[in-house]
Amino acid sequence: MDKIRDAILAGADSAALAALPVPESYRAAFVRAEDTAMFEGMASDAKDPRQSIHIGDVPTPELAPDEVYVAVMASSINFNTVWSSIFEPVSTFGPMKRLARESEWAKRHDQPYQVIGSDASGVVVKVGSAVRLWKPGDHVTVHCNHVDDQDNTAHDDSMLAANQRIWGYETNFGGLADLSVVKANQLMPKPAHLTWEEAAVNALCNSTSYRMLVSQNGAAMKQGDVVLIWGATGGIGAYATQYVLNGGGIPVCVVSNAEKAKILRDMGVEAIIDRKEAGYKFWKDEHTHDESEWRRLGSDIRDLVGEDPDIVFEHPGRSTFAASMYVAKRGGTVVTCAATSGFMMEFDNRHFWMRLKRLVGSHFANYQEAWQANRLIAKGMIHPVISQTFALDQTGEAAFQIHHNMHEGKLGVLCLAPEEGLGVTDPELRAKVGEANLTRFRR
Ligand code: NAP
Repeated sequence: MDKIRDAILAGADSAALAALPVPESYRAAFVRAEDTAMFEGMASDAKDPRQSIHIGDVPTPELAPDEVYVAVMASSINFNTVWSSIFEPVSTFGPMKRLARESEWAKRHDQPYQVIGSDASGVVVKVGSAVRLWKPGDHVTVHCNHVDDQDNTAHDDSMLAANQRIWGYETNFGGLADLSVVKANQLMPKPAHLTWEEAAVNALCNSTSYRMLVSQNGAAMKQGDVVLIWGATGGIGAYATQYVLNGGGIPVCVVSNAEKAKILRDMGVEAIIDRKEAGYKFWKDEHTHDESEWRRLGSDIRDLVGEDPDIVFEHPGRSTFAASMYVAKRGGTVVTCAATSGFMMEFDNRHFWMRLKRLVGSHFANYQEAWQANRLIAKGMIHPVISQTFALDQTGEAAFQIHHNMHEGKLGVLCLAPEEGLGVTDPELRAKVGEANLTRFRR
């Protein structure tokens, strides 16, 4: 991949890039099928991604007609990198075996290793024979909705497709690598004012938050809506906060320390709750809720903004879910995409039905939603929330930090990009957007 990287850095044109051979193997971060039982019997917290994520060369798969090779300049760590690496809630080798049964091309995904990673920015270096809208040399970001669009269920809303998967999580050949294999319908233009690492961190989390809050498929937030955001400086929360501010909503942001609260104040958020300082104990013990603590959260929100949330942006799961369902206003919406602290939910249904609330399940985003979310980044209206950048061989350490909530925003990973700060092709737009907006989460 060195020749390809050097050609990209030298600004080679489409024909020159297309002429370069794609090597037979490439460097990647991967987990191994033989390791899936390595953490059995351990508590989640003790399962260490640094032990299960390996860096090494893997063979380059053949390119299907509807796919492209992307030379990956940078990628990012998502929480799904943590899930893959601790083999929770299930090992991802099962979904890849099922994918392999779908077609001759899909068989490639069933390997004794999985190249992980669901984000990438980079350059197209080769396109399959059926690819029409992209060419070698295109600067791209990759979204992770992996869908076979020849299946009728993949139309209307492709997140409802029977064969919908998350690339680099439920498929092989993900983004934490020097090369990636992606379907042409995962490509989006790279925002020109961003560096490779800034461009790499957005697609998964930004698109997820867009669908949850902005899209008609989610909570369809409107001006003036009060939105309670858990983990408001985390991967998805930091984009959610921007969507609420941009869309004329009133964010009530929950975080767990003063540094995170400061980032939010700098963004223009006024209503902030430090959940550690408040010391909420929504559970008396593992099986018993404390409803008075739900009420305390509700009254803290009213003290801050004078009313109950129209929307609750929920993802911590078991630890907060019952409280979220309680504090949402009469007729309000709880929109959820995850369950970090546990996926078996329990809540008091009386508060739900008597107050006519809605619960909306949400998962990533369809191509159009991802495209619209990327467009807002490209226009400088939503900003990347990168806080640190790691080298590819530090992928395990970066995943460890996310697993233990030691980070803010997003963690970037340099793949072929030799250093941070490269890849900006529209410096005027960058100057207009302003470094302060682009570096707010930087440590
Ligand atoms: P993240 O960067 O770790 O941020 C999550 C934040 O939530 C943390 O920083 C923490 O913030 C807060 N939090 C964690 N545990 C909590 C708890 N028990 N109670 C209250 N707050 C808690 O992760 P992320 O990237 O935002 O992802 C969050 C979850 O969404 C993960 O489970 C991920 O897998 C899932 N996800 C799903 C999709 C999808 O398409 N379905 C897409 C993206 C992410 P404070 O400590 O500051 O409060």
